[in-house]
Amino acid sequence: MQLPPMDYLAPADLSEALAAKARLGDEAVWLAGGTDLLPRAKQGIAAARTVISLKHLAPELSGVRVQDGRITIGALTTLKAAGEHPELSRRLPGLRDALASIGAETLQQSVGTVGGNLCADTRCLYLNQSPAWRAGLAPCFKLGGEVCHPGGASADRCRSVCQSDGAVMLMALQAEAQVASPQGQRTVALDELYTGKGETPLALQADELLTGVSLELGDDPLGTAYHKLALRGALDYPLLSAAAALWLRDGVVSRVRVALGAVYAAPLVLIDAVAPLVGQEPTPERLAQAARKAGGHAEPFLVDNVGADLQWRKDMVRVVVARALEQAVQRAKGGA
Ligand SMILES: Cc1cc2nc3c(=O)[nH]c(=O)nc-3n(C[C@H](O)[C@H](O)[C@H](O)COP(=O)(O)OP(=O)(O)OC[C@H]3O[C@@H](n4cnc5c(N)ncnc54)[C@H](O)[C@@H]3O)c2cc1C
Repeated sequence: MQLPPMDYLAPADLSEALAAKARLGDEAVWLAGGTDLLPRAKQGIAAARTVISLKHLAPELSGVRVQDGRITIGALTTLKAAGEHPELSRRLPGLRDALASIGAETLQQSVGTVGGNLCADTRCLYLNQSPAWRAGLAPCFKLGGEVCHPGGASADRCRSVCQSDGAVMLMALQAEAQVASPQGQRTVALDELYTGKGETPLALQADELLTGVSLELGDDPLGTAYHKLALRGALDYPLLSAAAALWLRDGVVSRVRVALGAVYAAPLVLIDAVAPLVGQEPTPERLAQAARKAGGHAEPFLVDNVGADLQWRKDMVRVVVARALEQAVQRAKGGA
């Protein structure tokens, strides 16, 4: 498959880039590492007339900074550079593991970026195919049509799935995205960045660029963990994943968040299932109970569109959540 003809811009700095995007609006798309965008362009599902390369912005939008109990990652930091950053890897091993699980080290992790991972499009077994494969199908909701092939006749909206590993772990960590436009900067919680709508998964305006992501580490010892089920050990999107962030004070859970990936069009945060852990010692029985509840809470959200049996994925929610919680507890206790 070949790339369609597209105009290519490579602005020299952030303000030039923002001005170009404001001028071109939806006719242009940002190009970071290209490992999500370019395959979609070849498949004819990223139909932009112009790509705006961010390569000259790398010096200003790359790097990991730890300051005043906050960790900030520039949007153009490669997955490999972020995952191998000593401070990030020591403090957030769950995020390191999530980033290391993406694609392959030689390509996606070396050129793919953290910002591109957060903004990667939702995926679909029917949509992410060659134009020849799709030729016999009516255009779906995501392509401006009125049908969803995996959703069947009863589906009234796009049922594509967010399979971005970094997004799930960062969502569990309650991270915030920094967003720039010609009007200035704004901060948006990842909880709000993801709309949950397959047609338009991100709450970003046409003239906005994600410049970075940051999160509070908190005062209490923090344990993080990421568990992903995929068909292969590399080069594979998750069939289901769970991220846990858990803070302990004097052996008792002071705060906990769990998010699931490959469920629907956004990472799914499970609040009620894990809330009873707060104020309690995280015993194996309590963790198992939270994981069982997570399975029940997630069940209605799971979309059947990632190439694995739906019932199996439903059954596996409690397994991946239990694994993530157990490892997060271990790490919070310093046993990483
Ligand atoms: C074979 C293969 C396997 C893969 N496996 C995985 C996997 O296991 N897990 C996973 O999560 N991903 C996987 N990916 C997807 C991809 O490699 C990663 O998501 C990667 O991090 C995307 O980053 P990028 O810089 O290449 O993004 P790009 O492709 O450059 O951009 C992705 C999207 O985000 C937009 N964008 C990029 N940067 C910004 C920004 N700063 N602000 C606003 N919008 C922006 C682009 O316009 C585009 O729509 C895989 C891809 C391939 C080809």
